[in-house]
Amino acid sequence: MKTFVYVDHFKGDIQPSSWEALGLAKSFGTAVAVVFGSKVDDVAKTALEYGADEVLVADDSTLGDYRAETYASTLSALAASHNPNLILFPTTARTREMAAMAAVDLNTGVLTDVSALEANGDSFVATRPIYEGKVLEKTVCSGKPIMATIRGRAFPKPNHEAGKSGTITKVAAAGEAKSTVEGYSASESAVNLGDAGIIVSGGRGVSNNPSLTPPNGMDEKQAEVWRAQQGFALVTDLAKLLGGAVGASRAAVDGGYITYAHQVGQTGKVVAPDLYIACGISGAIQHLVGMRNAKVIVAINKDADAPIFKQARYGVVGDLFQIVPALTEAMKKKLGK
Ligand SMILES: Cc1cc2nc3c(=O)[nH]c(=O)nc-3n(C[C@H](O)[C@H](O)[C@H](O)COP(=O)(O)OP(=O)(O)OC[C@H]3O[C@@H](n4cnc5c(N)ncnc54)[C@H](O)[C@@H]3O)c2cc1C
Repeated sequence: MKTFVYVDHFKGDIQPSSWEALGLAKSFGTAVAVVFGSKVDDVAKTALEYGADEVLVADDSTLGDYRAETYASTLSALAASHNPNLILFPTTARTREMAAMAAVDLNTGVLTDVSALEANGDSFVATRPIYEGKVLEKTVCSGKPIMATIRGRAFPKPNHEAGKSGTITKVAAAGEAKSTVEGYSASESAVNLGDAGIIVSGGRGVSNNPSLTPPNGMDEKQAEVWRAQQGFALVTDLAKLLGGAVGASRAAVDGGYITYAHQVGQTGKVVAPDLYIACGISGAIQHLVGMRNAKVIVAINKDADAPIFKQARYGVVGDLFQIVPALTEAMKKKLGK
């Protein structure tokens, strides 16, 4: 069984779930990493260090910027000449687009956002959550090669063995780009919740500290946002200490406390960290669908009847403005920081 694994990266900054895809590929047999870009030697070497049996590299100035046309054409040309049984991708906006285009070239189908994949003879059965995770759908693909984008953090990441070497084969770029990238600028808030191992999230409760006196001259709404920012500062301190990311409920985002990039839930990001700490979040179903796959959920809430406690492994009933800083201090001591 030969599997191609597309290693997704932005200018050499690798999407970590590419390695989860590589680990999955290895469990089926030979894993061939596929790397596209310009000056991507380091990405190719890292693929070997994560266990790729071979790396095919299209290193070409025409691939310096991701463009669906060139990337999909290069991939479909490679697949047509190497005949892999399966092509795996981490699920990202780029891979959803290029996998779909390459699948059209190869006259096959794409299984997207796969959370489990079982070999069944020379076919595969993919499991993917639908209806906000309420139903798990089983899908098979009759085309060849089978293409699948895998859900981040749904599969284990293989060990990294620094310095591990292997075969890197240069291949040609294909296709002509119809679009040109004029430039990039960092977005206001580059938050990568999908890959975070630890997320500390704040909800509407972060604005609820009546003992905080806002600066003079603020109206009621401004005072609420100011209070919420003090609450989010505590949430952020804990997240930073633990090396995690900051999440939020929609109420916090709609309230203007924090940007949408942080929102977890049905209309935000779906996350699956090892640890999710919910601070001042009630646990509405639309929030739960975004985080209930976390391995350990900790809830901090004043209301002992808040629904979040039904999902949480550990619950602290109390005021987050006292609990969160106390937790941060305790963790600082524990971690020796
Ligand atoms: C179509 C649709 C899509 C939606 N998508 C999303 C989504 O993607 N993500 C999402 O989160 N929501 C989503 N929602 C909104 C969702 O229904 C809830 O309104 C929202 O999750 C509530 O956010 P919250 O828990 O922060 O606020 P609340 O429900 O108001 O809860 C605040 C909690 O804070 C606690 N609290 C207050 N003060 C303190 C304190 N000092 N210390 C400790 N605890 C305190 C309270 O006891 C309460 O439980 C969606 C709704 C709809 C209709």
